Amino acid sequence: MTATPSPALAGGPGGSGTVAVVATTAEVLAHPAGEAGLLTPGEQARLARIRLPHRRDDVTAARLLLRLCAAHVTARPAHELSPSQHCPTCGRDGHGRPYLPDHPDLGVSLSHADGLVAAAVGPGPVGIDVEPSTRRPAPLRMLARVLPAADLRAATAHPDPGPALLRLWVRREARLKAGRDDLPLLEWTDPHRTATTATTGPSPTRTALATLTALPARDCPPHTPSPGHA
Ligand SMILES: [Zn+2]
Repeated sequence: MTATPSPALAGGPGGSGTVAVVATTAEVLAHPAGEAGLLTPGEQARLARIRLPHRRDDVTAARLLLRLCAAHVTARPAHELSPSQHCPTCGRDGHGRPYLPDHPDLGVSLSHADGLVAAAVGPGPVGIDVEPSTRRPAPLRMLARVLPAADLRAATAHPDPGPALLRLWVRREARLKAGRDDLPLLEWTDPHRTATTATTGPSPTRTALATLTALPARDCPPHTPSPGHA
């Protein structure tokens, strides 16, 4: 069975844009997808090894949000989309950069930090990073090693350098995850969630968790060790 084609709106279902979402962990876990058994047994086993409950919740929510974004972009059911991971450093699977095996043309990225999660899915390389707006990045002498000197000077000259430095930081992280620093960057601060987010990709578009639809539970069988969902 094939999915019904959707209008090719940029950032919309089946569209050509990069969809980026930031939400709180609690929002994602309260979303219908949070109870839909979307995570594979392998993911669940890895999550079970995370000892800190709030961190386990953050990682769970980030992975669920990535599924929802991927379903939105591909117009396929979320339970059919299982991101894998590959580490470009050691060449092994199971950790490192996420990707969708059935959609090699799509880039995926996720981020989580202290009760906040973010995910981005779109054509080509994409990257996303979220940090609590109240967080302050590393000491200046460390930042000086990783950020362009001109950017750092501008940020420290800012009347309130903390948020300016944090914005530089999330931009850098998003670009690192995409593996590219020449793509359009979209950055925003969400005052309700006290989140500072940056995403990069060929055409980053911000959307809301509420626009990502989950499958009704009856259409979304829980993962069991059957051939279709092993
Ligand atoms: Zn590795």
